[in-house]
Amino acid sequence: MKILVINSGSSSLKYKLFDMTRARVICSGLAERIGDKGACLAHTLNPGTESEKKIRMTRALESHTQAIEMVARLLMEGDNPLVSSPEDLTAIGHRVAQGGETFKENCIVDDVVIRGIRENIVLAPLHNPANLAGIQAAIERFPSVPSVAVFDTQFSKDLPDYAFRYALPEAFYKTHKVRRYGFHGTSHRFVTRQLAGLMDKPLARLNNIVCHLGNGSSVTAVQGGICRETSMGMTPTAGLIMGTRCGDIDPSLPCYLAKSMNQSVEGVQNILDRESGFAGICGMGDMRDIHKAIATGDDRARLAFEMLCHGIKKYIGAYFAVLGRLDAIAFTAGIGENDAAVRAKSLEGLEPMGIVLDSRANAATRGKSGLISTKYSPVQVWVIPTNEELEIANACKALVAS
Ligand code: AMP
Repeated sequence: MKILVINSGSSSLKYKLFDMTRARVICSGLAERIGDKGACLAHTLNPGTESEKKIRMTRALESHTQAIEMVARLLMEGDNPLVSSPEDLTAIGHRVAQGGETFKENCIVDDVVIRGIRENIVLAPLHNPANLAGIQAAIERFPSVPSVAVFDTQFSKDLPDYAFRYALPEAFYKTHKVRRYGFHGTSHRFVTRQLAGLMDKPLARLNNIVCHLGNGSSVTAVQGGICRETSMGMTPTAGLIMGTRCGDIDPSLPCYLAKSMNQSVEGVQNILDRESGFAGICGMGDMRDIHKAIATGDDRARLAFEMLCHGIKKYIGAYFAVLGRLDAIAFTAGIGENDAAVRAKSLEGLEPMGIVLDSRANAATRGKSGLISTKYSPVQVWVIPTNEELEIANACKALVAS
C-alpha cells in the first residue's frame, strides 16, 4: 500500500511517499520557489537510511501543476519506478489548513469538497488557496487516485462551545464563522497517540497537554484523545509567541496600531504575522540564533526566550486546571524536540503541581522520543518527535479502507 502525502504552500510543495505495509518512507522531497525563476526540487530516496540518495534539480516550475508533474516523473520513470502506475497509489493525502465548520472530518476530495475548501479561503487566505492548488494539480495528474483532504483544524472540532466562542456579538459567529478553530491538529493527534503507546495507557483514559513548539507554536489540552482546549484561535496568529507571529495580545491593539501609526488593515496584519514574535522582540526568528545571542549576553534574545517559556508555563497551568487531572505533558516540533533549555525553563517551579523534570534526561533528549521527568513525578513529561505526514498517511489509509 503506497500513499503519497502532499503539503502544498503558496510557492512550495513538500511530498513524502509512504510504503504503509512496511511503515517506511520511500522518498521525500521539496519543490521551492514555484512561479519564480530560480525554482528547484530536492528529492531524497530512502531518507534517513544507509542507502539515502539525494537529487537536486533546478528547473522552471511555473505552477503547482508543473511541480506535481515533476514529482510524478520522479516516482514513475526509470528502470525501477517507485510507483509502477497511478493505480499503484492507494491515495494522495493533502494537508489543508482550514476546514472551518464545513469539515468536521477528513474526507475524500470531490467537487463539493473543493467548493467547501474554497469557501473557507476567507478564514485562511494565505493557506487554503495554496492547499487547493496542490489538490487540483494532483487530481489533474492522478485522476484515478483518491485525493484525501486532512484538515489542520479537524482535531479541535470537539472543543466545547464555551472554549471555542469569542465574547463577540452572536452574528459574528453565526454569519461570519468567527470562532476559535485551532491548528497543528495533525501533530497534536499524532503525538497524543504516540504518548498513549509509550505510556502503555489506553487513549480513552489519558489526560495530556501537547506543546507543539516550532516556528509556529500551539498548546492543546487533550482528554481521552479529544481536544478540549487549544491556544491557537480563529487564525494561527493567536497563542504563544512564535518565530514572527505575535501570539496573544490585547484585542484592541490592532485598532490602536491602525490609528496611531496610520496603518492599513494589511499593514497591521503584516506586523502581527511577519514582524512580531521573536523577530519583533530581538530581531531573530530562529531559536538556535536566539541561544547563540543569549550566550553573548544579548538581553533582547534573553527576553524572547523568557517570553516563550513564560507563555508555555501559563498555558500548562491553565490547561491543567481545564483537565482537572493531568497524566502527561509532551513536547514536540523543532523547539519542543530539541531545546532542553526551553523545556527546563517552562517547567521550572511546577514541582508543587506534580511536574518534576529529570534534568539529566532532559539535557540528553534531542530529536528522539524519551521520558524526561523523574520516576517520582506524578505527571510524566515526554519528548515525542512529531510526524504530521505519517499521521496524514494514516488518516488516508483509514478513510480509504472505510
Ligand atoms: P519547526 O517549525 O518545527 O521546523 O521548528 C523550527 C524551530 O525549531 C526554529 O525556531 C528552530 O530554531 C528550532 N530548532 C530546530 N532545531 C533546534 C535545535 N537543535 N535547538 C533549538 N531549536 C531548534
